[in-house]
Amino acid sequence: MLKILVINAGSSSLKYQLFDTDTHDVLAKGICERIGIDGKVKHSVPGHDTYVEEVEMKNHGDATRIVIRLLTEGDTAVLSSLSEIDAIGHRVLHGGSEFTQSVIVDDRVIEAIRKCIPLGPLHNPANLTGILACSEVMKGIPQVAVFDTAFHQTMPEKAYLYALPYKYYEKHGVRRYGFHGTSHRYVSQKAAEFVGRPIEELKIIVCHLGNGSSISAVKYGKCIDTSMGLTPLEGVPMGTRSGSIDPAILEYVMNAEGISISEMTEILNKQSGVLGISGVSSDFRDLDEAKKQGNRLAAVALDCFSYAVKKYIGAYAAAMGGLDVLVFTAGIGENNPDVRRDVTEGLEFLGVRVDLDKNYSKHNDISAEGATVRTLVIPTNEELAIAMDTRDLVEKLVKH
Ligand code: ADP
Repeated sequence: MLKILVINAGSSSLKYQLFDTDTHDVLAKGICERIGIDGKVKHSVPGHDTYVEEVEMKNHGDATRIVIRLLTEGDTAVLSSLSEIDAIGHRVLHGGSEFTQSVIVDDRVIEAIRKCIPLGPLHNPANLTGILACSEVMKGIPQVAVFDTAFHQTMPEKAYLYALPYKYYEKHGVRRYGFHGTSHRYVSQKAAEFVGRPIEELKIIVCHLGNGSSISAVKYGKCIDTSMGLTPLEGVPMGTRSGSIDPAILEYVMNAEGISISEMTEILNKQSGVLGISGVSSDFRDLDEAKKQGNRLAAVALDCFSYAVKKYIGAYAAAMGGLDVLVFTAGIGENNPDVRRDVTEGLEFLGVRVDLDKNYSKHNDISAEGATVRTLVIPTNEELAIAMDTRDLVEKLVKH
């Protein structure tokens, strides 16, 4: 039995989950918050109350030491010592064109992640800090990096190139990379298992709809296109991100409002999407509530979202020359039946037909009887996917 610690390090936070990779059970999980500000940790063990402690954390090294203490000492412990952790798996946002799959961390990998910082300036430095903190505090325990971009590296040139001067691709790596790759890979594999057919025979569209949303076309097990781009800003409108817009809007609005490029970028990332349209919230539960109360713009924001997702489904069915399985996942995809209904309505011409009773009563298979496309709701589990990649790579390492 291998015990794998999965780490997702953000700029001032560090989330962790300890997995038993035989049973897939989470033995403990938690989050260190406000790292470098003051510090607070929440730690939970299944069957026990969540433990909360305010404790100073100057950096991710301090946070890592606290995680080890909570995992191995006192009432919160689930391990007798640190040596019980077999490996650590890290979520890393951007692997550029360098990484097509998960890898064991070594000096070369650390350097390559560092090189991708310009592509993922908000996340990669934090992800790297998490890796370096673990190398220092948990010396000798193998580490694996799992990239959000890796699964999408199979996209053909025609899908990943932007129609810009080619030199920007050559000099600066400007191309579509795509994100949520670990989720798209995990969910498409689960979907194939669910329908009981080899993924190599299936044309699957995965709609990962959460705070950030992305759609991908998975043909015969390989991603051939995805809606996010160089950064997670492209694609459908999201909680606070605009998704795709006419690029000329930037200069137009900057001139009209007298704002700088960094203010504009902040608006596109933090004040747009369904929050921007509705002025109500980025959370779909709040939007549903506001719509019920008669708020017109909340209803419009929801419509814009579902319409954009529907258009990607049409585009990707065309790109793949057909569709066998349509999958919904992540916070909205798993929990918001109204969105699933609105997205799939009118797609009968593709063979998509949803049974509304099933859609509204927590079924995994929400397809109507006789539908040629299976429409599924499959919970994503990026942390488990990271743990399993880590286990596979570490087992190979031991065998060699
Ligand atoms: P993130 O991209 O940050 O991981 P999530 O996948 O949790 O985000 O998605 C957040 C969105 O999912 C919110 O808009 C929220 O309305 C919706 N959501 C999450 N959980 C539920 C739930 N249990 N019921 C209804 N909606 C939910």
